[in-house]
Amino acid sequence: MEKVGLFLCTGCEIGAAIKTDEFEDLAKENGASSFVSHPCLCSEKGAALIHKAVEAGEVNGVLIAACSSREKKDVFSFEKRSVVCQRVDLREQVAWSHKPQDEDTQLLAEDLLRMGLARVGKMELPKPLEEEIDQTVLVVGGGLAGLTAAKAASNLGHPVVLVEKNEQPGGYLRGLRDMYPAHPPYDSLQANEIADLIAEIEADSSVRVLCGSTVKHIAGQPGQFDVEVQTAAGTQKLKAGAIVQATGASPYDAGRLAHLGYGKSPAVITTQQLSDMLLAGKLTCPGSGKAPDRMVFIQCAGSRDADHLPYCSGECCAATLAQVAVIHRDYPDTQCMVVYRDMRTPGQMEHFYLGVQEQSGCMFTRGEVDQVSVSDTLEVKVRDSLLGKDATLPADMVILAVGMVPNAADGESIRELIDAEARIKKNESETQVAAAKELVEKLESHRGTEILNLDYRQGPDLPVLRYNFPDSHYICFPYESRRTGIYAAGALHAPMDIAQAEEDGWGAAMKAVQNIRSNTRGEAVHPRAGDISIADFFLQRCTQCKRCTEECPFGAINEDAKGTPEYNPLRCRRCGICLGACPERIISFPDYSVDSVASMIKAIEVPEEDEEKPRIVAFMCENDALPALDEAAGRRMQWNPWVRIIPVRCLGAVNTVWIADSLSRGVDGVLLIGCKRGDDYQCHYIRGSELANTRMSNVQETLDRLTLESERVRVLELARNEFDRIPEIFEEFAEKIEEVGPNPYKGF
Ligand code: SF4
Ligand code: SF4
Repeated sequence: MEKVGLFLCTGCEIGAAIKTDEFEDLAKENGASSFVSHPCLCSEKGAALIHKAVEAGEVNGVLIAACSSREKKDVFSFEKRSVVCQRVDLREQVAWSHKPQDEDTQLLAEDLLRMGLARVGKMELPKPLEEEIDQTVLVVGGGLAGLTAAKAASNLGHPVVLVEKNEQPGGYLRGLRDMYPAHPPYDSLQANEIADLIAEIEADSSVRVLCGSTVKHIAGQPGQFDVEVQTAAGTQKLKAGAIVQATGASPYDAGRLAHLGYGKSPAVITTQQLSDMLLAGKLTCPGSGKAPDRMVFIQCAGSRDADHLPYCSGECCAATLAQVAVIHRDYPDTQCMVVYRDMRTPGQMEHFYLGVQEQSGCMFTRGEVDQVSVSDTLEVKVRDSLLGKDATLPADMVILAVGMVPNAADGESIRELIDAEARIKKNESETQVAAAKELVEKLESHRGTEILNLDYRQGPDLPVLRYNFPDSHYICFPYESRRTGIYAAGALHAPMDIAQAEEDGWGAAMKAVQNIRSNTRGEAVHPRAGDISIADFFLQRCTQCKRCTEECPFGAINEDAKGTPEYNPLRCRRCGICLGACPERIISFPDYSVDSVASMIKAIEVPEEDEEKPRIVAFMCENDALPALDEAAGRRMQWNPWVRIIPVRCLGAVNTVWIADSLSRGVDGVLLIGCKRGDDYQCHYIRGSELANTRMSNVQETLDRLTLESERVRVLELARNEFDRIPEIFEEFAEKIEEVGPNPYKGF
């Protein structure tokens, strides 16, 4: 920007900590066109000074040197398309965290102002994205979560298309007459209300229900999805703005539980098979056809078991309780015995459990079932039982409470399978073909499992996390998936019971509607909600290396046959990971570019070698590391004044050229601080921290080329609540840098 105003606040101890009288000269020398100082910039009068300058067109770039950029957002907000605004955090990063009226504190403040001015100078006004956004929500799956999502989206004024593969909607609940309680007072069986919900949806003119249908293909991006649905009458084409996938879950394959008698005796059945009997109103032992005198229910059949389903499905205990209650009511002569590892009835469901326990003819015991032996009768062998060390329970019928497996397709594995097959066809080398064949064999089970059939370079369905549930940032954004505008709901999303599935349907619909409305305003969704900038690819210099198309965590970039990226801005979350990935440095945002950050690095005044004051650049992620820093400052923790912080969108959005730039300018050490990575990741952009670590091999090459010590660059993970580690992290690194000695590139 060419007309940059520096607006300085001297309140909140800033004026007492640093000398500000020479800042006007500093501002002018570093490109500012105007300078204003105020003792309380966030006051009505202070903020009016900025707004007046903006409205009069005196400035088109605003640099506010005051509190953290996470504070006073409402006061310091401007019509986004008329001005760019950047904040310099003099309160938290200087006044509250450093010795007042100290030379090092003063140098730090001056560097931060120079860095801020350099950055605003390189920022550009974002070009608004004005696309036509379709307001329709596509719901895939017509069980409770899907129907609820359809109802919620329709209530919010959006047209809905619901695609259900069965001939009737209702999903899992169609198979139940009585349900465990999902509403107060949670102490008795509840009538199944799914028929009412189906009737409500069918009567809603905003909802189009396509039963006996599947999704054949989805191309495009949020706001502009082109959907092809295969119906019995042929293919229907439609547009959608956002998608809720609520394809539910299926019972775990009981055929793998032969040790529990399944497949060996027809009288060993699953919870779902018993539900079918109860719905039909006929309880008889399969095989003999007699009414059972004694039924044994085995909980966690294959669940919480590393060889089968390692997780708890979250609803089998409640489902068994409901069946025991129904049998007690309708077949009072039948005894029910439940063998559990733990009865998991969290929250209000405990009332129901206590009530069922009181029923005559019902018995519950804790124990491990190793085996169900099948001869003339069934015998359930229980170990470590409350009935005694070991016990054998005779039964006419055994019911296995098998867990639920999400009806998800693993988009990334399907993509790998397609790629491996392409390599076989290409037949470039014997070794490559052999490796590809091995991979095809390993991934064979994924063939034909597609549900959404997305036309995405990274695979045709939502990526899955552990145990095949479509992943999300379950700590901060539990409804987000790794495909913008597509949300998972219900038992597909996570193990859950009926009440939770209903709530999840509402949640996913809210997210879908939020996405459509954000796109209508041209704004990004979480975590950079409200951001109107989009990435710019200078493709003339693209070498088709595919790093951006492979590394984008949200599948926002497709590629053409030659490998040239095809950017889909409405899929983009503005994380900047592509910018960090691109070796040609041709991806940029109007307010975040390789050049703007490089200019911040250049603006740091690096002391000469004989001054014995090292300089450290810390690239800190705005999602966890910077909030942690603010927290530390708020608690008046003090840290090393040699550190110059550069906020980044994500550690993955750090282009390694910035590390090279820093070191070749004589900066003594570089820290990269981002979110936790791994399976339980907390990285807000899923893979950013992980990618930063992977890219460190390139950094090592830079260090080798410059003949610099590897200790000069360090990557660290920091959770939001680990703010108390910050002073120690900086101090320890500064000590290490002193030990290693000054960067020999100083002064070059
Ligand atoms: S900014 Fe992030 S989401 Fe957008 S294209 Fe780049 S890597 Fe993908
Ligand atoms: S990372 Fe850069 S050079 Fe590589 S494909 Fe993407 S835009 Fe092209």
